[in-house]
Amino acid sequence: VNHVVVVGAGLAGIRSVEALRSRGFSGRITLIGEERHRPYDRPPLSKAVLLGTADSSFVDSDLDAMDVEHRPGVSAKGLRDGVVETTEGEISYDGLVIATGAEPIRLHGEGRQHVLRTLDDALTLRALLVENAKVTIIGASWIGAEVATAARRAGCEITVLEAGPTPLSHVVGREVGADTIPWYEGMDLRLDTMVASVDEGGVSLVNGGFIEADVVVAGIGVRPAVEWLAGSDIDLHNGVVTDEHLRTSLPNVVAVGDCAAWWSRRFHTRLRVEHWDTALNAPEVAVATLLGDDAVYDPVPYFWSEQFGHMVQYAGHHAGARLLRRGDPTAAKWSVCWLTDEDRLAGVLTVNKPRDLVQGRRIIESGQRMDPLRLEDPEVAIRDC
Ligand code: FAD
Repeated sequence: VNHVVVVGAGLAGIRSVEALRSRGFSGRITLIGEERHRPYDRPPLSKAVLLGTADSSFVDSDLDAMDVEHRPGVSAKGLRDGVVETTEGEISYDGLVIATGAEPIRLHGEGRQHVLRTLDDALTLRALLVENAKVTIIGASWIGAEVATAARRAGCEITVLEAGPTPLSHVVGREVGADTIPWYEGMDLRLDTMVASVDEGGVSLVNGGFIEADVVVAGIGVRPAVEWLAGSDIDLHNGVVTDEHLRTSLPNVVAVGDCAAWWSRRFHTRLRVEHWDTALNAPEVAVATLLGDDAVYDPVPYFWSEQFGHMVQYAGHHAGARLLRRGDPTAAKWSVCWLTDEDRLAGVLTVNKPRDLVQGRRIIESGQRMDPLRLEDPEVAIRDC
């Protein structure tokens, strides 16, 4: 491999560049990114940047020192036979890393709707979150809750519209989601509420209602940014399909981060995880694969969210597992676990309880059996269950 092209200059893209150099790759590297900024971290956008305690979140990698040809403001448009087609001509490669991430889903309608994906989105939105502004947030999920946190701090009048029966119901289930409802105190949280469209002056509901708003924010999820690959032969299904080595269906092409759906040996299913930890760690494996080494990506997925003064952390993959509580969810600290039929830990969600998270993640990794009765007692450390 002489020339590696990395498409997408987000965290997964820059980490791929770093991994190439740290593995001793001395060939040419080209990093193509649609955004005009140098690579930055996204988690602070809905936290420090929106709250006004930071203005940016650039990663501190030295692109010059790594001898990378960074092409900001350039988009990949297509892929064929060792060539990436871009808005500024064709670039041929010997190795390709696909790291184009994900893009927010938007709602119907002609009214102005904000999303929060880029630094520019965050700075635009921050300027609108002013005292008494009527802010309607669509989606009580990770992004929606963090935007609501910042809007509340700014003294906005907040409405949150959620299609599901509780916040976060599609990710953590309605029982755990219901535990977060009190966090929305002082806001008009409307559950089971479907938005028809974003219109001039507000939001139209499917049931016929209309909610007036100065600012409308859609936080209804993202989709993998893989449209540019539609005309190529690469296997796409909920993102770029890869094996456990992060190898795609095309030779010398790997995929990482929010856009990649990898085969999980651990969970015997394909996973696509739209969280920071994956973008941080998957590139090391993808690059090893590209350079001909035998590496496997098999993490226990992890993410966190900071909402309404709570640090929420999750590790695992709990589909099909049963819920078990550790502590009173109205208390300041609590957690829940999910156990498989064989009493193995499948997932753990903690609120202000990082120790449960750390221990739980290790136990999920080890696959050991648990004692459900001990696990239910929040006074007993998870590692002693
Ligand atoms: P991205 O960060 O999306 O980067 C992909 C890059 O590729 C983008 O710059 C994009 O412009 C570019 N691109 C796309 N298409 C093309 C193309 N055709 N040609 C060239 N370039 C292209 N995760 C957590 O675990 N905890 C959190 O608290 C958390 N908070 C978040 C808050 C916000 C506001 C957001 C948006 C995300 C948050 N995440 C969080 C998720 C985390 O940031 C993502 O999982 C991570 O950014 C994924 O990195 P990535 O490099 O795969 O994709």
